[in-house]
Amino acid sequence: MIYIDVLVEYDVLKLNRPFTYACRQPVEPGCRVRVLFRNREVIGYVTAVHEQTHLQKVSEVLEVVDPKPLLNEELSELSEWMSHTYVCPRISCLKTMLPPALKPEKTHSKVIMEDWAELGDPVELTEKQRAYRDAFEYPLPAREFRRQSAGLARTLIKKGAVRLFKKEKESKPVMPVGTDTNFTLTEEQKAAVQTIAEGSDSLYLLHGVTGSGKTEVFLQLAQKTLDAGRQVLFLVPEIGLTPLMIERVTARFGANIAIYHSRLTAQEKYRQYRAVQEGKTAIVVGTRSAVFMPFSKLGLILMDEEHDGSYKQDNLPRYQTRDIVRWRAAYHTCKAVFASATPALESYSRALNQTYHLVELKHRIYQNLPEIRLLDMRREPRQDALAKTLIDAIRQRLADHEQTILLLNRRGYLPIVRCAECGTVLTCPDCGIALTYHKREDVLKCHSCGRIFAFDHICPTCGSTHFFQASLGTEKLEEQVRQLFPTASILRMDADSTRKKHAHEKILSEFQAHGDILLGTQMVAKGLDFERVTLVGILQADASLARMDYRSAETAYEMLEQAAGRSGRGTRAGIVMIQTFDPDHYVMQAVVKHDYQQFFRKEMKYRRLGVYPPFVFLCSVLFSAGNAQKALQAASDAKAFCAGFDVIGPTEISMRQRRPRFRIVIKSSSKQKLVKMVQELADRHQRLFSTVSISINMDPYMLEE
Ligand code: ADP
Ligand code: ZN
Ligand code: ZN
Repeated sequence: MIYIDVLVEYDVLKLNRPFTYACRQPVEPGCRVRVLFRNREVIGYVTAVHEQTHLQKVSEVLEVVDPKPLLNEELSELSEWMSHTYVCPRISCLKTMLPPALKPEKTHSKVIMEDWAELGDPVELTEKQRAYRDAFEYPLPAREFRRQSAGLARTLIKKGAVRLFKKEKESKPVMPVGTDTNFTLTEEQKAAVQTIAEGSDSLYLLHGVTGSGKTEVFLQLAQKTLDAGRQVLFLVPEIGLTPLMIERVTARFGANIAIYHSRLTAQEKYRQYRAVQEGKTAIVVGTRSAVFMPFSKLGLILMDEEHDGSYKQDNLPRYQTRDIVRWRAAYHTCKAVFASATPALESYSRALNQTYHLVELKHRIYQNLPEIRLLDMRREPRQDALAKTLIDAIRQRLADHEQTILLLNRRGYLPIVRCAECGTVLTCPDCGIALTYHKREDVLKCHSCGRIFAFDHICPTCGSTHFFQASLGTEKLEEQVRQLFPTASILRMDADSTRKKHAHEKILSEFQAHGDILLGTQMVAKGLDFERVTLVGILQADASLARMDYRSAETAYEMLEQAAGRSGRGTRAGIVMIQTFDPDHYVMQAVVKHDYQQFFRKEMKYRRLGVYPPFVFLCSVLFSAGNAQKALQAASDAKAFCAGFDVIGPTEISMRQRRPRFRIVIKSSSKQKLVKMVQELADRHQRLFSTVSISINMDPYMLEE
């Protein structure tokens, strides 16, 4: 008999506390076991094996699930590092790292991909055996087939009445096969490839304006890596939005490429995972979760649109993909390239202090960057949501057989209150942050300090009683555009219209084939490359300018510059029209000139003044409980405990599941000190406030949720 420590998922509070079980057969750390935990069967994860135990009563493992550890040494180490750095349960890291088929689970009824049972040959069976065989619908996971009676199941398999197989056969995911274009690189591209391929540094920031040909640089670097017999990881924010890029990558590298993203079925994920593990896949293109693929000979990591918010996972273990990229690049001593036209401030700062080697692509391949025109909505005549100037421009595009993209910004959409006459946004007198309107109570609230203000519906600047309602949705916009242009071919892309698998691809290929106008949420801002698009119109551009969050201006700049980047990418010149109430805002002024550096310098001043990243590291800690008093007490105690640290709050934030929530934000210029503090805080919290739930978010992407 051996004794094993098993991690099970049960309560995020008790970080990494394993439970001891007895086991009759040999098992290694890193394997899953089926155990009884609080009277429920769960799948746990073995962390250690002992000869003895000092415990009196130890229950026995029900089943050893894996003959060999699931994770190799690297990923096992990585999961420990994550658990430490993000102050989160290691089991949450394992769950994130492994494909669904291999996860440790709260229940064990999940499909395990290894063995499947299917109906076999007709053979003589006793009545009991027949009844057992006929009780199931085939094929089904072997585990389920065995559950009722392992003995009967064994006999049926032995007789051949039921067969076992590995369920890996399935249809291939539809993959567009494009034609490859082997460009002659421009001088700039050539220099970029050379710097990165031959440089002695390991981390690079590729800052290239939109349309500067970053993809081709990636492909050439990938080729060199494959030639050297090593694997490539190519991270993108969203697969569905970049079908053309995927086409180009598949056209170039064909068979040994895997596309890995959240919309794959559990089986597809499992198969891809295994192929990488077995070294059959040389290049993986994928979203966030692909960063955990079990590469053995990783030679290059490419991270496109590295600024994108989707690289930060919101739920446990709340990791930032860029951190994982750096960790793995160091482990494999390989190169990592972070690329963007609008790098995250954290990344650009790292480039300026030479943590990253900065490589720039300053020119577009074909045209100059598009002209940007700010339409001042305080003066512009308009029809419904669109300025007349924009309507005329769309009409011109229709006449010239060119295409238009209309972006309705809903990100950061919060019911802020803006005067329709003078454009004033009502802000908190203490925090300078836009107030949000709560319709039911008819009050204004500050999400930073929590103060509540009565709303008299009179503009403090001009006395107008007419307030702008930022409540336009994409469907409504579609309606208006259809009325304006009844004969145009109009496509809409937003969360609703893309719910189905491959919906993105379908909309985009229709747009490519015969579309005139593509309208949608910020989805249409990202990555698209259509050469006939010569007009981009951006509505409600101010929605995210209002300083709701320390990163508001950054995401606003990114969104505007990225959206602008869709215009005039081919041989025809493009233009961008931005409808704004605030044309003098420094974000607008930088966007007009496509001047990232100007934006960066301005924004860094605000960050320094406000003491925000990249000048400090943040950790946001939420406390929630059935009653507000208790949650607040825990939050206040935590703040007091963090003596010597700059702490914001406790701030009451919106309830979730009817539970009041309070947040504190801890700041520190040392990441190490911050992590240590938060770990101590978490320990203390478990001891003193076990009825208050705590949620820790290291390096929160945004403070507001
Ligand atoms: P980015 O990712 O920097 O926005 P892309 O990689 O999508 O830009 O390239 C922009 C366009 O230029 C694409 O249509 C691409 O096919 C084309 N392109 C890239 N490199 C070259 C080149 N060397 N010669 C000609 N066309 C190129
Ligand atoms: Zn305030
Ligand atoms: Zn006003």
